[in-house]
Amino acid sequence: MILPIRIYGDPALRAKTYEVDADSEDLQQLIDDMHETLRGAEGIGLAAPQVGRTERVFLVDLRAVVDESENSLPPQPMVFINPSITWESDDDGEFEEGCLSIPDVREMVIRPDSIQMWYLDRDFEPHHIKVGGLLARVIQHEYDHLEGVLFIDLITPFRRSLIRRRLREMTRGNVEADYLVAGPVSKGARW
Ligand code: ZN
Repeated sequence: MILPIRIYGDPALRAKTYEVDADSEDLQQLIDDMHETLRGAEGIGLAAPQVGRTERVFLVDLRAVVDESENSLPPQPMVFINPSITWESDDDGEFEEGCLSIPDVREMVIRPDSIQMWYLDRDFEPHHIKVGGLLARVIQHEYDHLEGVLFIDLITPFRRSLIRRRLREMTRGNVEADYLVAGPVSKGARW
């Protein structure tokens, strides 16, 4: 089932998230629904808070932008449950990011070039990986969602001032996206 994506201003994007205790039918259903939602929106990553959930779960699927066979990319899509970043490189890189929860905004964000991460996959098998490049970038963006952090929190105050108006409109529900989005939570909500 495709789930409505929460848009900037929705408290779900800032809510505290919780580790998943055990595999469950509900968790597997959530992962299936998130896959369907991510595919439907043609995105490359989606975290549980973006669909209004508080589990520490996110998905990455780079197939739309990277040819799996051409590099050492792990099989896509990837599911990350209870992830933790165990190491970050000293070297940083700059890359233009966007987010399904902040439609039509793209900004340069500085992040570590490579990271190591511990996580459980959807079969609850533990993994510890070292990744760089686009995969490291997307993983860090999605991990931030679990911490209530959005990529626009990481840009300069000047860049932020340039998009302030658009963000305010989003908060009011004035948003156009070619995928299903949730209406504003504040009063005056659309139905
Ligand atoms: Zn995002």
